[in-house]
Amino acid sequence: MRQGRLFVISGPSGAGKGTICSELLKDGSLALSVSMTTRAPRGKEVEGVNYYFVSREEFQKTIDEGGLLEWAEIYGNRYGTPKAPVLEKLNAGKDVILEIEMQGALQVKANYPKSILIFVLPPSLSELRKRLIARGTETAAQIDMRTRTTIDEIKKIKDYSYFIVNDDLQTAVNDARTIINAEHLRVEDQAEAIIEKYEREGI
Ligand code: 5GP
Repeated sequence: MRQGRLFVISGPSGAGKGTICSELLKDGSLALSVSMTTRAPRGKEVEGVNYYFVSREEFQKTIDEGGLLEWAEIYGNRYGTPKAPVLEKLNAGKDVILEIEMQGALQVKANYPKSILIFVLPPSLSELRKRLIARGTETAAQIDMRTRTTIDEIKKIKDYSYFIVNDDLQTAVNDARTIINAEHLRVEDQAEAIIEKYEREGI
């Protein structure tokens, strides 16, 4: 059976990658990986839905056991992708989407060269700052720090395969679907199946 595709979506917070992912998940064709984190739950976040919230000890134990596909430390907290559920889904032919930051995305690309990395950009840095200020979850100093991180990340965009500019949400979601569809039309690992199908009909 054909393996599922592993899509990795990154981008600065406030660029809207979470909203794009929620839209993509609506038709059931993709599975979202639930990450493990040492940070405390925020607001209405639910264990096992938004994240698996664990202690630093439990996180370290999972790393030591080789249970993470990738992990990174961001602003003092650790975040990682549990390996087994992702591999199970890919092996069952299901596409999986990881919504993770750049350090983790690059680890995934190194370990799974077939993964498809997508970077979500805000229409501009001023618009990003406006969105963060409106969200009200960061202080002015934190917003400055995030803006600098965003510029540093954008400088490394060459490591990604695709970018999406999230100005209008519907356009951004359509762009993401276009990328996913294009990846399904790659010859690569489907060449054998294509040849066999038409050869069987050969006259
Ligand atoms: P937040 O604390 O706002 O939920 O997430 C902070 C950052 O961690 C976001 O950029 C998010 O994409 C990233 N993140 C969430 N889960 C993972 C993960 O499993 N691995 C990595 N490397 N980053 C993650």
